Amino acid sequence: MKHQIFSEKIISWYRENKRDLPWRNTRDPYKIWLSEVILQQTRVNQGLPYFERFISKYPNVAALAQAKEQDVLRTWQGLGYYSRARNLHRCAKIIYSEYEQKFPDSYQGLIKLPGVGAYTAAAIASFAFAEKVAVVDGNVYRVLSRVFGLHDDIATGKGQKVFARLAQELMPEKDPDVYNQGIMEFGALHCTPKNPDCASCILAVECEARRGELQTRLPVKSKKLKVRSRYFSYISVFSENRLLLRQRGQKDIWQGLYDFHLVETQHSVDLDHLYGMDPLVRSLRHPGVKVEVSHEYIHVLSHQKIFATFYTFYPEQAGYEVPLNGGYDFHSMDQVLDLPKPVLISRYLNDTFF
Ligand code: SF4
Repeated sequence: MKHQIFSEKIISWYRENKRDLPWRNTRDPYKIWLSEVILQQTRVNQGLPYFERFISKYPNVAALAQAKEQDVLRTWQGLGYYSRARNLHRCAKIIYSEYEQKFPDSYQGLIKLPGVGAYTAAAIASFAFAEKVAVVDGNVYRVLSRVFGLHDDIATGKGQKVFARLAQELMPEKDPDVYNQGIMEFGALHCTPKNPDCASCILAVECEARRGELQTRLPVKSKKLKVRSRYFSYISVFSENRLLLRQRGQKDIWQGLYDFHLVETQHSVDLDHLYGMDPLVRSLRHPGVKVEVSHEYIHVLSHQKIFATFYTFYPEQAGYEVPLNGGYDFHSMDQVLDLPKPVLISRYLNDTFF
């Protein structure tokens, strides 16, 4: 198939079928950047309210740059991968202080920003500045692999290069930004992972996957993430209407978010084990201290599966002294509501207190 025919078909399909999304009616690189970062985390429907919340709280890059990190994390809460939210904030600060609040207007300039990878740089360069640069996301891999019958592995650098080259060759001179939106939308709505609508497809005649009935085998993606199981016992201390929390440090998931004292083990343990192994739990071992044990919560991340049990202790005596160092503090329930927290912690709090 001629490249020009492919891009023309995609553009005309897009003009008829596109969804009306807020970040499509703008050339504002800030809004486009924000939408792309959010959409890397979630689907359009789930991402939409986050996008609107961010835009209403931080309408421009200066507002985001000047926000407190905790506030940004709180707004991001529920999207996971909190390092992305921190990068978003860091990048806004750099654009604010080093770029006079203006995004670079080319792919080469954008890719130098922290946390901005090839995909995001291409998306901003294309949608905000109409640069002729291919945007390659999961939808594009799928459409290209099926239509052109490419069996290269999209999980490898080598395979990605093959797709990047073809995607760039397919870029039309006219309306490259509309074409980029179009191919992604075509993958999202029509040539979908499980049920591509081949019967009424504009590319049915040319499509290699359809011809060879390879739709379920393309694209080829070999690498499987190993999922690690982790066993968390959370120690939640409720005293004088306040809860004991600490801010999580670096080098693990949920950096900067708040949770409870955590005992992590190789497998599930019970309260007797915890009395034996942890000073905080031991300090709460007293006939006057009521303790409630939750059911097991299962929380799935992309590369980890967490099995968490919450032990809620209610020390009656005022002035309970925490026998630990390291940023533990009692917070009122209003404060607890406001603090940025992992979704797992919010689930427990909603079940137990709110
Ligand atoms: S014919 Fe089917 S597999 Fe091929 S592009 Fe169309 S929807 Fe996708």
